[in-house]
Amino acid sequence: MTETVDALAGLVAGGGVVVLSGAGLSTESGIPDYRGPSGAARRHTPMTYQVFTRDTFARRRYWARSHLGWRMIARATPNEGHRAVARLQRGGLVDGIITQNVDGLHSAAGSVSVVELHGRLDEVVCLDCGNHTSREEVDRRLREANPGFDARVAAVNPDGDVDLADEEVAGFRTVDCALCRGGMLKPDVVFFGETVPAARVARCFELVAGARLLLVLGSSLTVMSGRRFVLRAAKSGIPVVIVNQGPTRGDGYAALTVDAPLGRLLPALADRAMPGAGGGPGVVGAGGLTGVGR
Ligand SMILES: [Zn+2]
Repeated sequence: MTETVDALAGLVAGGGVVVLSGAGLSTESGIPDYRGPSGAARRHTPMTYQVFTRDTFARRRYWARSHLGWRMIARATPNEGHRAVARLQRGGLVDGIITQNVDGLHSAAGSVSVVELHGRLDEVVCLDCGNHTSREEVDRRLREANPGFDARVAAVNPDGDVDLADEEVAGFRTVDCALCRGGMLKPDVVFFGETVPAARVARCFELVAGARLLLVLGSSLTVMSGRRFVLRAAKSGIPVVIVNQGPTRGDGYAALTVDAPLGRLLPALADRAMPGAGGGPGVVGAGGLTGVGR
């Protein structure tokens, strides 16, 4: 695996890297990857925009689950992988970061100008007046509206979902927009069945067009929302490197694929790609990176 880190570092050391990250980068922060290797085991299908906006009970269920799951998301902290990406950016090797994650952990690790393709779970938008509120504030209002609401937290999805019985959902009170009084609130994340705002997509294509290398980190590239950037890079002759645990739908376009835990590989990569920037080569032993393929 040392050879793989060297090959990867050789590509990254040239700079002009644009990172495209997915759920696999945050699993080591305790946020489950529901599309990853264990994704088939997820308990329920993700909420769609159409169901959220049209089905009152489904919306109440979403907020009730999400209210409970939010605590776990809110206390998640960046892992070594996020920190290594921030280090590569500070070192001038990474020009841009596009993330499919809604957890805000790239920014929390010190990365700047992160394009959050699917939005952020810590922000809430009013679908009627467009007002943005912090999730913290909405969470406080939800707690006030549901004194004593207590349910067991079972499995948590990346969008902060937990399993709840119908009776528990029926007793849950959602809250409306405090500004326009009555507007429907929605976490400011892109749901299934919803399109990413055009300006945000354009910004991503712009980043990819200017890249010397597209580095995919922890995404199985299952949805076109992220995969399209790999296709665009490949079409433009920009090399694509994919680091992920398990195969991805972009492997056929990649110049190099690496199957390794990101929290271990990325610090080693940063050390090798920037030997003068602290750490130095060989800090992470090769043994830590072997035998991790599936
Ligand atoms: Zn409103």
